[in-house]
Formats: sequence, structure tokens, C-alpha cells
Amino acid sequence: TRSSRPQRLLSVVKKRAAHGDPQSVISAIDYFCRHNEWAMNVGDEKGCILDSVVSELNPERVLELGTYCGYSTIRIARILPPGARLITLEFNPDYAAIARQVIAWAGLEDKVQLVEGASEDWIPRIKEHFGIETFDFVFLDHWKDRYLPDTKLMEECGLLRKGTVLLADNVICPGVPDYLQYVRSSPSYESYYFKSHLEYTQAEDGLEKSVFLG
Ligand code: SAM
Ligand code: MG
Repeated sequence: TRSSRPQRLLSVVKKRAAHGDPQSVISAIDYFCRHNEWAMNVGDEKGCILDSVVSELNPERVLELGTYCGYSTIRIARILPPGARLITLEFNPDYAAIARQVIAWAGLEDKVQLVEGASEDWIPRIKEHFGIETFDFVFLDHWKDRYLPDTKLMEECGLLRKGTVLLADNVICPGVPDYLQYVRSSPSYESYYFKSHLEYTQAEDGLEKSVFLG
């Protein structure tokens, strides 16, 4: 039977990347997706913006919505300070199984908690289940119709504090007009657009960084 794209990404990682070396895992995936098969990872160009936002913030508690194969998980986790924790949510069990192996190959399983399930089910349970007060940084990269409802849900559940940074991918392509309108017009956020390109293409896309003001 034919393999799936995530299975092919995992094979490439095992063949081309050094065990325990997150940068080599990132490079192997980027090379494969640029030259062989496109995949919905944040990619190298927007990934550099993601890196700089994370480095500047030095977050200790991080939430990622949408793991896929674990590419952005590894990007974020590799630059987190010692003791930091990243919780990443993925509702597709096949993707989650691949991501677990990719994250382990990068040697980052101690920093990352991959949780299987839907964001809308998990967000209300995160505080109690993981003993988390609030997140310092949230990366939104799951299905685009969930950005706005899940942001409002995180507010309601008290997961955001004054200064929490939300970083949203694909705000132009495929686009999240309802979310952009909300964070750009709400007095509870200060929002900035980082212009870039859709992963592995020349089409315009970008990241929206929104600081929660409480
Ligand atoms: N962040 C990843 C990266 O850059 O490497 C890419 C994530 S991919 C664009 C989106 C993922 O979110 C898919 O794997 C999809 O199954 C998952 N997803 C979509 N909606 C979700 C939801 N409501 N809860 C949990 N996972 C979801
Ligand atoms: Mg994306």
C-alpha cells in the first residue's frame, strides 16, 4: 500500500537527520518539502520569524494548536529555556503518531507534551489537567475556522495573561479574516503583521503577532 505524506516525511527525517539534532530534522524536512513534496509546515521562511518571536519572549509555558508532523513543535522547542514546557494539540491520530516519532528523533520529547484531541475539547481542561496557570506564548496553526473561537475560549478559560503573545500562521493564505478583524480592532490586543510567503512558495502569506493586554 502507498505510504502517506507524513510517513514519507518521517522516513526522510530518519534517513537524513542526525538523531538528537533538531536543526538537522528541520533542514531535512525543509529540503524535502521544497524539492519533493509540499507539506503544510510553517516552513523555513516564516519559521525564522517564529524563531525570533520565541527567542525574544523566552516563554516558559507554550501552547501550540495544530501539530501535524511536529515541524513547528521542534522549531519552537529547540530554543525554549531549560524547564520550559510546550503542549501541542493534534486531533488526527495518524499525524500525532508520526509527530511523536519526529519529536523523539529530534531529542525533544522531554520538553514537549503532545496531546491528542480537538482544541475545543482540550482548551477548557488544560488548566486542571496540566496544572498550567497561563500561557506565555500560543502558536495558532490548526484549521482556520478555529482561530477565533479558540482565542475567545482561551480568554474565557483564563489561559491568557497580560503580555501573553499569540502568533497566528497563514493569516493571508488560506487566510483568517474573522480572526484578523478581531485582534486588530479589539482594545484587548496590540497586533502586528509580519509579511512573508506561504511555506515553500512565492505566494504572499504572513504571521500575525497579537499581544494580549488583559
Ligand atoms: N504547526 C504545524 C507545522 O507548522 O509544522 C502544521 C500544522 S497543520 C497546518 C494543521 C494541523 O492542525 C493538522 O494536522 C490538523 O489535523 C490539526 N487540527 C486542525 N484543527 C484542529 C483542532 N481543532 N484541534 C486539534 N488539531 C487540529
Ligand atoms: Mg501553517
